[in-house]
Amino acid sequence: MKLIDGKSVAAEVEQETRTRIEMLKTRGITPGLAVVLVGEDPASQAYVRNKDRTCAALGMYSRKIEMPATTTQAELMAVVADLNADPAIHGILVQSPPPKHIDERAVTEAIDPRKDVDGFHPVNVAKLVMEDLTGFVPCTPLGCQRLLTAAGIETAGAEVVVVGRSLIVGKPMAFLLMAKGKGGDATVTIAHSRTRDLAAVCRRADIVIAAIGRPKCLGAEHIRDGAVVIDVGINRVADPTTKSGYRLVGDVDFETVAEKCKAITPVPGGVGPMTIAMLMGNTVTACERLTA
Ligand code: NAP
Repeated sequence: MKLIDGKSVAAEVEQETRTRIEMLKTRGITPGLAVVLVGEDPASQAYVRNKDRTCAALGMYSRKIEMPATTTQAELMAVVADLNADPAIHGILVQSPPPKHIDERAVTEAIDPRKDVDGFHPVNVAKLVMEDLTGFVPCTPLGCQRLLTAAGIETAGAEVVVVGRSLIVGKPMAFLLMAKGKGGDATVTIAHSRTRDLAAVCRRADIVIAAIGRPKCLGAEHIRDGAVVIDVGINRVADPTTKSGYRLVGDVDFETVAEKCKAITPVPGGVGPMTIAMLMGNTVTACERLTA
C-alpha cells in the first residue's frame, strides 16, 4: 500500500506558485486574496487564519475581513462590491458557512466570476461543465485530481466512484474526472445517501473518492483489492487522550481499508493541505489573468 502524502504534493504546488508570484513581482504586481468571515465559528476562524498565514508565507497580499454574526445581507453585499472593484484584490472568498440569516447563494453570485477563486459562481460551474479552461475549479476537487496525477494513478478509462454530490466537492470532482485529457477521461459514478447498495457500487471502482462527512463511513466491504482511495472527509471525533479533546478522522476507516488498497490518502495530511495550496494557485491565476 502506498500512502499518498498530501503535504509533500502541496509543497510542490506551493513551490510552483512561488515561482509564478516572483514573475508577477518583476512587473510590480502582488497577488491579493480577500477572505471574508462572518460570525465566530471556531473551525471557520481556524481555516481563515490558515489561509492568511499561507498567503504571507508565499509573499502574497492578504486581507482578512471579520464581520460580526449580526451582519446584514446588505452589509455583506456592500463589502463584496468593494472587493470586486479593488485593484489590489484578485481573489475573493466568503468563508462558509455564514450565519443562517445570510443568503449564501446570493453572496456567491455577487462575487466577480474573475475573482471567484473558490469556483462556486454559476459562471465558473458552467465553465467546468463545458470544459472551458478560463474558469476556476473548486480547490478541494482540484487538489484531489492533482494528488492522483502526482501519485501516478491513471484515470483514463478507470472506473471512479465519487461518494457525495455536494457543489463544493462531489459534483465538481465528477466533472473534473470525466473531462477529456490528463487527470480525466474516467468513467464516473456519483453515489449519495439514496444510493442502493453503496458497498456494491463502490466495489466496482478502481478509484473511490469519499466526500461524505461521516466518520469511517466506508470500510473494507466498500473497497476492492488494489483500489485507490482518496478520503476528502474531515470529521472531529471525541478523543480524551488529546489536548484538544478531539481528533480528526476521514470518511474512510483507514485501518481496515489501507491494508487492501493500492494507494490511500491519510487524514490529516492528505486532501486537507492540497485545498489551501490550490486556493493560492487559483488566486495567482486570477491575478495573472486580471493583469495580463
Ligand atoms: P455535504 O455537502 O454534507 O455532502 C455530503 C454528501 O455525502 C451528500 O451528497 C450526501 O448525500 C452524502 N452522504 C451522506 N451520508 C451518506 C451515506 N451514508 N452514504 C452515502 N452518501 C452519503 O459535504 P461536503 O461539503 O461535500 O464535504 C464532505 C466531507 O469533506 C466533509 O467531511 C467535509 O468536512 C470534507 N471537506 C474537506 C475539505 C478538505 O479540504 N479536505 C474540503 C471540503 C470538505 P445526499 O446528497 O443524499 O444528502
